Amino acid sequence: MTDLLNLPGLTVEQVVEDEHQYSIKVGRRRERTHCPHCGSVALRPNGTREVRIHDLPIHGKRVGIWFDRQRFLCPDCSKSSADQPDALDADRRMTKRLVEWIGEQGLRRPFTAIADDVGVAEATVRDVWSGWTEERIQALNIRTPTWMGLDEIHLLGQTRGVITDVGQRTLVDFLPKRDKGTVARRIARMPHRDQIELVTMDMWRPYWTVVRELVPKAQVVVDRWHVQRYANEGLERVRKSLRAELPKKRRIALKDDRRLLLKRGCDLKGMEPLIVEAWCNEFPQLGAAYRAKEGFAAIWGWGNEADARAGYEAWVRDMPADIRPAFQPLITAITNWEAEVFAYFRHPITNAFTECMNGLIRLDSHAGRGFSFEALRAKILLKYSAKRAPRPKFDKAPAFPAPSGRSSTFFCMMLPSREEAARWPMYGADLDELADLIQAIERGTDQPRVPFEALLR
Ligand SMILES: [Zn+2]
Repeated sequence: MTDLLNLPGLTVEQVVEDEHQYSIKVGRRRERTHCPHCGSVALRPNGTREVRIHDLPIHGKRVGIWFDRQRFLCPDCSKSSADQPDALDADRRMTKRLVEWIGEQGLRRPFTAIADDVGVAEATVRDVWSGWTEERIQALNIRTPTWMGLDEIHLLGQTRGVITDVGQRTLVDFLPKRDKGTVARRIARMPHRDQIELVTMDMWRPYWTVVRELVPKAQVVVDRWHVQRYANEGLERVRKSLRAELPKKRRIALKDDRRLLLKRGCDLKGMEPLIVEAWCNEFPQLGAAYRAKEGFAAIWGWGNEADARAGYEAWVRDMPADIRPAFQPLITAITNWEAEVFAYFRHPITNAFTECMNGLIRLDSHAGRGFSFEALRAKILLKYSAKRAPRPKFDKAPAFPAPSGRSSTFFCMMLPSREEAARWPMYGADLDELADLIQAIERGTDQPRVPFEALLR
């Protein structure tokens, strides 16, 4: 009989093949040498039990290995044990290589399809896959960031938490939710979390509370782009309030030009400053709101906290009363988050990197190409996990060692030294690699087979 299985320790005795399945009977063995409970070597055979073990599909058909598993009884501790071939997973009636296969496949294909290939329940695939990925994500040993970014992204029907290392520009984790409990549990699991010095976030109180409780020494810095967005919204409120008094054509023109109004004045090019000026002259209230938006943006340019605070106070004081309601949400936000907003001038970090990463993820995955959240998270964290130094060029003329009886020196040469290994720190997913992944999905080269809706059941 040819060795159809290629599993050391298991000898194929009979093969029955039908349309869907290979049933393979393997020979009985007597391998156990000692009791796993007490170590006694005086084991007594205690009958056999036939078990069916799932293995990798062969030629597209399911494979069941039928195995008369030898049972043993220990005379010293009276406990029973069973033969445990190396090729078999310790916890499931599966080969180890099938567990690996399900893990890899689950990163690319829906669980139902994998379950169908193997001949097990979908719940089993899900369970195996979760254990497999969790183990590997743990093994990544992603570092605790010194400068942490907290943000959220709406993805696959839920608001998800995103944690980044804004100093190293890597992804630390994707969380299924962004609520206080989920974020707190994740931060609590970070090794040496007292190393976190700065945390940048938007003005969302649950994040703040979690950081206060778990990393009390860290300084929270509100992301300045989130703050500036409030100022832009103030301008938008004034623009929208003018709509009623405009004829339709002018209203559409003003809406089309809102992009210019929201742009920083110094970034306007060509005719753009003239267009903005025309609108501001035609509608003095819009002009005042535009100047307020620009004036607020200018505060970020102050070099120190005291000047910035003084600049902000002057900005509030000088604001015309008729546009003040439009900017009130900004003023209220700054009142509520004063320390964290102005901390920026001592620690000028932002969440721009996190936003950028969110944009990349959103670009495709929420458009619905079929990943479940868990699969997307695992894929990004696993496949694109390490920020590694590039590998050296392929050595075309390796210095082969002279043949000798021992091959171990050769293997030693291939392993990185401890110093080399230390130069490949593990920080999390690299942004550039993540962008490649998203683009690959976009191109359809990595597209899962089932529609996205099917996974949302
Ligand atoms: Zn024993």
